[in-house]
Amino acid sequence: MGKIYLIDVTNRDGVQTAKLGLSKLEKTIINIYLNEMGVYQSEFGFPTTRHESHYLRANLKLQEMGVLQPIRLGGWIRATAEDVEKTFQLVPEIKDLNLSISTSSQMINGKFLGTKSEEDILMMALEAVDAAKGHDARSVGINAEDASRTDIDYLLRFASAAKEHGADRFRYCDTLGYDNPFTIYDACKLLAEEVAMPIELHCHGDLGMAVANSVAGAMGVIDGGQDAYINTTINGVGERAGNADLVAVVLALKKSKGLAKKYKFGMPIHLSKAWKICKYASYTFNVPIPINQPGVGANAFAHSSGIHADGVLKDPENYELYDFKELGRGEPEMVETGREISSGEYSGISGFGHIMGKMEIEFANKDEAEKILELVRYANVLAQQPLVADELCFIAKYPDIVRELLTLTPLSESAHLRVKG
Ligand SMILES: [Zn+2]
Repeated sequence: MGKIYLIDVTNRDGVQTAKLGLSKLEKTIINIYLNEMGVYQSEFGFPTTRHESHYLRANLKLQEMGVLQPIRLGGWIRATAEDVEKTFQLVPEIKDLNLSISTSSQMINGKFLGTKSEEDILMMALEAVDAAKGHDARSVGINAEDASRTDIDYLLRFASAAKEHGADRFRYCDTLGYDNPFTIYDACKLLAEEVAMPIELHCHGDLGMAVANSVAGAMGVIDGGQDAYINTTINGVGERAGNADLVAVVLALKKSKGLAKKYKFGMPIHLSKAWKICKYASYTFNVPIPINQPGVGANAFAHSSGIHADGVLKDPENYELYDFKELGRGEPEMVETGREISSGEYSGISGFGHIMGKMEIEFANKDEAEKILELVRYANVLAQQPLVADELCFIAKYPDIVRELLTLTPLSESAHLRVKG
């Protein structure tokens, strides 16, 4: 029986979304939280984008150090041999990749304007898989963008050929949120049976069905005899109406009628981290959590009407499917209501000492404190809001890593051309 794994794409689909972004330190903390939660892989960024290089390499170093273990860190690139080469040139340590190419005739014709056929697309994808395998990538996922609008016979041929060339997973992208639970179940079951390789579900919420489609797609994959990898984002942030919400996907699989008996996670998921990760993503993206969001919304465990309040007081199970404590809720949160000293890009040593002292972080000497403060200032330049306790602790604990991931050095035009040429 196949199992379910999570591949979170907040640090890729989430940050490429209009009006949303994260600093490199914030992306790093998200990788750490995803690891704590039991997520199989974080799609941690764009290896061919120059300003990601230091961040990606620093996070791979954290993986080597055992800080980011057992989570895998996967890069997302276009499925071309050229992008694969550039990836291993800029981020030689990378081990896991997803290669993406459009497969629907809408996109092949609408993007390439008649210059590429289905065969050309297949060739490009296979060359990219060959190139990635040639660089000894540990895992290569081949992504069919707009799979839900792709002719199913072509999709089967595309996935089978990629598998023959060594691809490890096939990503079924419902890029426009066009599927419904019944259509995605059928398509993914067929793919699993015919191609016999693990399948990723990448669903968007344009019709409000991202979570339902992810769950139904995973059921299809497992009923077809393969492992299913669901793509999620924290708080469902992502292109347009967003992706499948991480916490809602976990809740659906664990709590929905009869599902957990048959469809199981391949590794333990620590739902108790949900509250922390969702609050952090909300703070760093500057996007409030909707009041009615499953599990972590302010109203997810709130009751006021007579019959409901009475019922839940007598027995919570009357009106609650799961307990708030399971999601890491219930602890009071400290909010400063008087004088507040926070970190900033112009912070001085006195205020900094006060903040770190409150978290019981001590420095060996003034020099060390000054060194960490300088990194905190740079982190603030990128975040443009006060750092949270976990970020400050991380900087104090791994200053060399932080120095690397905060480094953003645009190349001069001539250097850029030199590297390109
Ligand atoms: Zn997407």
